[in-house]
Amino acid sequence: MKERTSPTDRRDFLQQSLLGTAGAGIAIASSAHVTAAEIPDAAEPEITQEVDVLVVGGGTAGIIAAIQAGRSGAKTLLIERNAQLGGTTTTGGVAFPGLFDAWGKQVIAGIGWELVKECVELDGGKLPNFAKVPQRHWMNQVHINQFLYALLAEEKCAEAGVQIACYEFPGSLTATGSGWQVDCVGFGTRRRVLCQQIIDCTGGAEVAGMAGFERLHEDERQPGSYLFKLGKPHEPAATQLHRLYVHGADSTNSRTVTEANLTGRKAILAKLRKDKQRLMHLQPETGFRESFRIVGETMITVNDYTSGRLFEDAISNAFYPVDLHTKSGVKPKPLKPGTVPTIPLRALVPKGSRNILVAGRCLSSDRLANSGLRVQASCMGMGQAAGVAAALAAKSGTTPLEVPLAEIRQTLRDHGQIVPGKA
Ligand SMILES: Cc1cc2nc3c(=O)[nH]c(=O)nc-3n(C[C@H](O)[C@H](O)[C@H](O)COP(=O)(O)OP(=O)(O)OC[C@H]3O[C@@H](n4cnc5c(N)ncnc54)[C@H](O)[C@@H]3O)c2cc1C
Repeated sequence: MKERTSPTDRRDFLQQSLLGTAGAGIAIASSAHVTAAEIPDAAEPEITQEVDVLVVGGGTAGIIAAIQAGRSGAKTLLIERNAQLGGTTTTGGVAFPGLFDAWGKQVIAGIGWELVKECVELDGGKLPNFAKVPQRHWMNQVHINQFLYALLAEEKCAEAGVQIACYEFPGSLTATGSGWQVDCVGFGTRRRVLCQQIIDCTGGAEVAGMAGFERLHEDERQPGSYLFKLGKPHEPAATQLHRLYVHGADSTNSRTVTEANLTGRKAILAKLRKDKQRLMHLQPETGFRESFRIVGETMITVNDYTSGRLFEDAISNAFYPVDLHTKSGVKPKPLKPGTVPTIPLRALVPKGSRNILVAGRCLSSDRLANSGLRVQASCMGMGQAAGVAAALAAKSGTTPLEVPLAEIRQTLRDHGQIVPGKA
């Protein structure tokens, strides 16, 4: 059996090692080498690039949208403002995506499931048995190694031919006759993107807002949570992180995100001093539950959600209790047995728009419906559908709503997704 050292043993060992090397200075172990490629346009202050599909936000929904668009043959660029892919799943540390199953069978699969399953298998973990209806909904969430997930997401993007641009975000955009001109900013870089289709996966529909489409925002939002670990080591996918509710957290812009992060980290510092415990793990960012959502061509109501309405343009299933977090916590309201909500394509289309879709928690839905729809498997399902619709629209020079629904659904099935209904 593998022997585990306690945190104290490890700390002692570390101190001894450092003391042992003190005479010769601290040796930094580095035995492996890799070389980053020379970027031909690295010194160019501004570059212009033409793509078919631009995905903004490389989080839970965005990576799936980008991989799908790439696999469908679209020239795809993925812009992410942070250092890595995965968004709330990785940077926020909510590494327990759900729910892929309902009432004893899988209802969401496709690229999201492919990634999650591969992550668990490579990590030596165990997948839930979806044939068994769990006693509590969260029991079939899949615990994944957030670090590995981010790496696999990058690999799958590369394999699908998706170009990744981290540390960048759109500064402005204008509609062109055939799509969009999006001017993106990074540190030391500017990138003008000419694209046919945009998929806004920023969590808060930031691009749709920038383009002037209507969005909804509550005065009081669900709290965010800062994830960390005190005292005991954190083993990804095997142990739970501690969670601190950050009330008022808002992912609207860099100022509100900074405020939520500083507030969360200050409280964690105070707690570790009070409890006299070591800080063993700290996510780089707060996990945000709620900010803006679009007003789409269709708005999913809580009644649609809890009744399992089969929309005529349904492109993905969704499954989770109604799950609104408030100041006093959360009391999930499970769905009635047999109920599986669906997501219509029109809830991903900002009202009155052309050539832009959203995917993820910012879809068009009332607040209570959104509290259930925002979970990761559902976001992945939307992402894949948006990726198909955008790629097909780019290929045929139309808008996502003009692409025949049957073609979107067949492509989704061809790429392993489960499509609601029989049509
Ligand atoms: C604490 C907490 C617990 C949760 N529990 C669960 C759970 O148990 N199970 C579950 O399935 N779900 C859970 N959820 C919900 C779920 O994790 C999120 O709703 C979901 O991951 C959101 O996915 P998304 O793709 O919409 O956004 P995100 O995953 O947040 O991705 C948005 C991405 O866009 C990037 N971005 C934002 N703005 C820009 C910009 N202007 N330019 C470029 N990039 C940008 C961000 O950096 C990020 O990478 C929880 C959420 C939280 C916060």
